[in-house]
Amino acid sequence: MMSKFDVVVIGSGPAGYVAAIRAAQLGLSVACIEKSTNKLGKTGLGGTCLNVGCIPSKALLDSSHKFAEARDDFKFHGIAAKGVSMDVAKMIDRKDKIVGQLTGGIGQLFKVNGVKEIKGFGKVLAGKKVEVTADDGSVSTLDAENIIIAAGSAPIDIPPAPIDQDVIVDSTGALEFLKVPKRLGVIGAGVIGLELGSVWARLGAEVVVLEALDVFLPAVDQQVAKEAQRIFTKKQKLDIRLGARVTASEVKGGKVTVTYQDADGEKQEVFDKLVVAVGRRPQSENLLAADSGVRLVERGFIYVNDHCETEVPGVFAVGDIVRGPMLAHKGSEEGVMVAERIAGKKAAMNYDCIPSVIYTHPEIAAVGQTEEQLKADGIEYKVGVFPFVASGRALAANDSDGFVKMIAHAETDRILGCHIIGPSAADLVQQVVIAMEFGSSAEDIGLTVFGHPTLSEAVHEAALAVEGHAIHIPNKKKR
Ligand code: FAD
Ligand code: AMP
Repeated sequence: MMSKFDVVVIGSGPAGYVAAIRAAQLGLSVACIEKSTNKLGKTGLGGTCLNVGCIPSKALLDSSHKFAEARDDFKFHGIAAKGVSMDVAKMIDRKDKIVGQLTGGIGQLFKVNGVKEIKGFGKVLAGKKVEVTADDGSVSTLDAENIIIAAGSAPIDIPPAPIDQDVIVDSTGALEFLKVPKRLGVIGAGVIGLELGSVWARLGAEVVVLEALDVFLPAVDQQVAKEAQRIFTKKQKLDIRLGARVTASEVKGGKVTVTYQDADGEKQEVFDKLVVAVGRRPQSENLLAADSGVRLVERGFIYVNDHCETEVPGVFAVGDIVRGPMLAHKGSEEGVMVAERIAGKKAAMNYDCIPSVIYTHPEIAAVGQTEEQLKADGIEYKVGVFPFVASGRALAANDSDGFVKMIAHAETDRILGCHIIGPSAADLVQQVVIAMEFGSSAEDIGLTVFGHPTLSEAVHEAALAVEGHAIHIPNKKKR
């Protein structure tokens, strides 16, 4: 086996596989090492995102949304849908097929681009060497001109709720239930807890979310977070308990008793299943030889600069294993940047313009700064808000909860942030991401022609509302 490559990538998640493909496109010889085997018995190409993250969770969110729509909302359109039922095993099987299709697709892309796929555990040695331990325990060493570490992240475990992947599960286990739990506990009201809680709540589980913090979605613009909390608790009957810190759990007779502490003292709840969704940690154990020269910083992240360079020339790290939001697209763009820089191009990444989405219904999507951040930074700003209840398209679709909130600089009018809760928020916010990349003002969006009737018009109107020029709502006085 050829053992010298221009680029050796460790990890085939969205950061690693994208880096590998881009490097190969640029004419470099590339190997990509992946340690995991997925549920289908194949190499886990695509990492967390394709196998147990973004894609399978969205498959279940889409299936459960269609089911809940048929059961609860078809009647509003005059459609009688009696006896609507969900075959959970079939839903899971559909999800597995999509995962199989996409992970297989990465294998094909590796082949057509000439990326050498290596199954095994990669470890960075000194002198730009990578040790690979195959599944049978055999060890080989690769020589690399450049190494890209893309080993990703894993769910955080907490001692009060040890995972058994039966009654107490992590996000991976919560994608595999074969029947709807009657009572489902979720620890953590973050992105993953809310998405997975929504899936099972829509299918009929009584869901209780226990969140240690007193504030709901603290990183989200609080006007959006408040609307989300109202919709989830009042309309979707998610029982979200803030200020509730889980301190212990006990599994007995196939159920789990969870003990938590809130302002009133100690309380207990009994669940059929418990999902632990308290965040993710970088997967950096055993990844670096003691003399590799690559430095770990707090919580096990790899230290890198703005160009994803470690302190060892020719060794880079990208994706969830480095600072910044743990998002697939952030890792992929870092992967492209690094591959291009290795090939001698001057690529850079704009960390101020990364969209983030929570795929509940309605979706919550954002780019740029929140009002809270701007206040804390002492930046003067103005705000335009447009509610979907004033959008003809949203009303036609019977999907009019939420709003678009546009924030622009008080003097320059440059867009500083956009925060959306509503139908197709993920796709709508992308319009503003593009605008921000081009340094757009709110007025630029206001002057753009938007098709009618579209949900996108809500973005247009929110931009107009920044100066009090929205047409389809009464404007508040401009700030
Ligand atoms: P990973 O995807 O974690 O991939 C790293 C890969 O490296 C893994 O396959 C691992 O097996 C392999 N590896 C690790 N160590 C070694 C080693 N030493 N040798 C060889 N191989 C190794 N993000 C979004 O942007 N949108 C979403 O909708 C979204 N939904 C999510 C839903 C869930 C339930 C979860 C859990 C995550 C979700 N994420 C989402 C986050 C997203 O999955 C991650 O941000 C993304 O996968 C990170 O990519 P990565 O390439 O850095 O790491
Ligand atoms: P995220 O990091 O966005 O996935 O969110 C994880 C959430 O889990 C955070 O909001 C934490 O406050 C919450 N959390 C962590 N530990 C506990 C615990 N023991 N009990 C309840 N919530 C917790």
